[in-house]
Amino acid sequence: MEHYQPEFVVRYLAENADCACPHCLSSDDANPLTSIKFNNQQRDSLDVTCESAARQMLLNPDAFVLHAGKNDEIADAQPDIWLETLNQECLNLAMHPALTVELSLFAIGILLSRVQQYQGAKANDPALLVTMAQELCLLAEQGVLAQQYVALPQIGTVQTMALKSLGAKRMSFNLPPMEKMAVALKIGELKIMNDAQLVDRASSLQTQWNVFKTANNLALIYRNILIYKLYTDIFPGKNDVCYGEKFLRLTQQFFQLKMLFAIWAETGNELTDDIISSLYISLQSLGEDVDITINDEEKVLYALALI
Ligand SMILES: [Zn+2]
Repeated sequence: MEHYQPEFVVRYLAENADCACPHCLSSDDANPLTSIKFNNQQRDSLDVTCESAARQMLLNPDAFVLHAGKNDEIADAQPDIWLETLNQECLNLAMHPALTVELSLFAIGILLSRVQQYQGAKANDPALLVTMAQELCLLAEQGVLAQQYVALPQIGTVQTMALKSLGAKRMSFNLPPMEKMAVALKIGELKIMNDAQLVDRASSLQTQWNVFKTANNLALIYRNILIYKLYTDIFPGKNDVCYGEKFLRLTQQFFQLKMLFAIWAETGNELTDDIISSLYISLQSLGEDVDITINDEEKVLYALALI
């Protein structure tokens, strides 16, 4: 098999043998190294509930430079080339130099919605996926994707739902006590707001986020989070849940993380590397939201409204 180790895994293994983060201290088997075998690939990754692992993944500009080798494992006799190609095309869009991370997500959403139309006829040639992704890359390079992204309809309902669900999460933050209280209070407020108040809140947090993201170079972190998800989960995975739903869960997590960083910005405290990894871990360790009550056909459109 091909054996892949991204740079953040290599660095972690070299530098963080004795991690003393809350996760590693509370767990008997604290080794965060994970490994997925898929077709003819072994993909090594890290469980990012460990703070040292999360920091290596989030903050290193070269986190996803791949080190490739061979091992003696036997490749899958019936490889899923369709999924491998779809996952690779999603990764290509996530790393495309002409795309901001928001536009990468947008392009992946469009690809998945087109692919979903072929779901019934799985005999399709994976080359079709390559062609569709190439068309999207061309549209990106011509600036057409950016124009379409700006013209997306604003759907207040979906942002309200995502914000409400953020308010309902029982997050545990590894933060200094004062900051922890300030963040917890602001998140608690979301639970008692009515829909109109939540629409206003989403809009003011979005404004806050736009300034904060640029000032703190959060685009790199967002890019790494996206690539991590695609690489580690072989996103969008087997075709058992509709792709629209998987994409909606993905963008909902991105939206909530954005809101969480914006809430941190409102506290006026500095955003250190420790805070970045702590906020990320507190949200992602709770997993994805599952209570999404939207029609299948509308899921991609709703998901796009959360980017
Ligand atoms: Zn740790």
